[in-house]
Amino acid sequence: MNVQAVLGEIRNRPGTGEVIPIINPATEEQITEFTDCGEDAVNDAVARAKAANEAKVWRGLPGSERAKILWRVADLIDRNADTLAELESLNAGIPPEQARIITAVGAEWFRYYAGWCTKIEGIAADVNTGGVMGPNSQLHAYTLKEPYGVVGLIFPWNGPVFNYCAKLAPSLAAGCTSVVKPAEETPLSALVLDRLLAEGGVPDGVVNLLTGYGHTAGAAITAHPDVEKVAFTGSTEVGKEIVRTASSNLKKVTLELGGKSPVLIFDDADLNMAITMAAMGIFIHSGQGCICGSRIFVQRGVFDQVVEGIVTIANNLKLGGPTEEGSMIGPLISAKQLNRVMGFLDDGKSDGVDIVTGGYRLDRTGYFVHPTVLTNVDPATSRLYKQEIFGPVVTVLPFDDDDEAIAYANDTTYGLCSTVWTSNLGRAHRIAKEIQAGTVTLNCQMTFDHSMPFGGYKQSGWGYEAGRAGIDTYLQSKTVWAQL
Ligand code: NAD
Repeated sequence: MNVQAVLGEIRNRPGTGEVIPIINPATEEQITEFTDCGEDAVNDAVARAKAANEAKVWRGLPGSERAKILWRVADLIDRNADTLAELESLNAGIPPEQARIITAVGAEWFRYYAGWCTKIEGIAADVNTGGVMGPNSQLHAYTLKEPYGVVGLIFPWNGPVFNYCAKLAPSLAAGCTSVVKPAEETPLSALVLDRLLAEGGVPDGVVNLLTGYGHTAGAAITAHPDVEKVAFTGSTEVGKEIVRTASSNLKKVTLELGGKSPVLIFDDADLNMAITMAAMGIFIHSGQGCICGSRIFVQRGVFDQVVEGIVTIANNLKLGGPTEEGSMIGPLISAKQLNRVMGFLDDGKSDGVDIVTGGYRLDRTGYFVHPTVLTNVDPATSRLYKQEIFGPVVTVLPFDDDDEAIAYANDTTYGLCSTVWTSNLGRAHRIAKEIQAGTVTLNCQMTFDHSMPFGGYKQSGWGYEAGRAGIDTYLQSKTVWAQL
């Protein structure tokens, strides 16, 4: 399937709602358009997923068979990497080499979870505590790990291939059937991946793709009584909305939400490395990564040096569209996101923060904002400091000692990621225990692997993705008792 075919296919998808344009964020040109699938399509998709679940066409397969299929899907993703990466660049503005890496990681999600298909197991125990069965009864108990029936998988635009694979690989490994909704801004690669699942051998009805808005298709999935679980990645605000809607039938909900991740740089750190990683850790993908470190705290003695280093990198990053030679950083995803980021920057200007570099939109087509470094920000009042911006904007503040650094790190309603740069290993591990976040990286940053659990403390989420915890997200536990 080539890019032109995908653009035509989405245009021809049936729908009953609004026509939604798909925009190239680097050129502001419309690439194609599609019609919101509408509520009837959601009902049909859930019915298909429910029928496939009841017919056991997927969960009834031996784990080894599911594993082979997932492995084949991974190989197909690799084989179609050119198309997927091209779509990722066209639709999300991601530079080609980065799009390639993301696509390769997508395939690895499927290989990793192929391995888990044959390792879904519970516990067993002999129990003789009796209860009403009498003091001498001998009982044997064991647990079964069973897939939820229909799961709703909803995710954002910031890494379309990655987000699709992160949801589909574990839910399929667990044996779930699903309805899947990518972001309305970036549904294109999902069409290809959907096709590759079928080509790899995932039976009809197991995965059902829906293309539409969040407030229409997404809300209908979340409200549907036959959807047993929703696994959502997106903003904290929509996450809360999903929880409210899901309460109608007490659906289980997993949430991977926003962050305002702190980066602590101590004066004994390898400063070259810390400066480079802290800068790339916020400016990569124009700051549109949930794990971006958007609040940097620097020990006072090296504050000026670190700010200068980050600013130098910010000023030398080549922004541009994926077809522009040497581009390292792409645009923001949409005009809406651009306005949101500029709104935060306008606030900062009226609050009197120091804009050390950036703070403006580039004078060209495309939704490009210059990487922005802000100091002299008031943590008590600044919206810039408190709220997730999801743009290339970082605040940098000084601290004096470990306690102050930890207090700053935890001074947020979020708890997704955090980073500590120091050569004092004892301090690094001590601080790792104190930070209220689901991920702490010590002398490294932006680390992620499908083999290790990823989840948020506080308002950054509920539950986990990746690792063993990632397959447990799609399994429920049943306890079986037997009298011997
Ligand atoms: P968003 O919450 O606006 O949208 C995410 C998805 O939810 C989209 O598919 C959207 O259509 C859908 N949606 C919107 N309203 C809905 C509703 N009422 N009911 C059901 N679905 C609805 O988020 P976004 O702006 O697309 O993405 C950026 C956010 O995602 C950031 O906050 C970022 O931190 C977060 N994110 C988190 C992780 C993580 O793993 N923690 C990863 C990537 C992105």
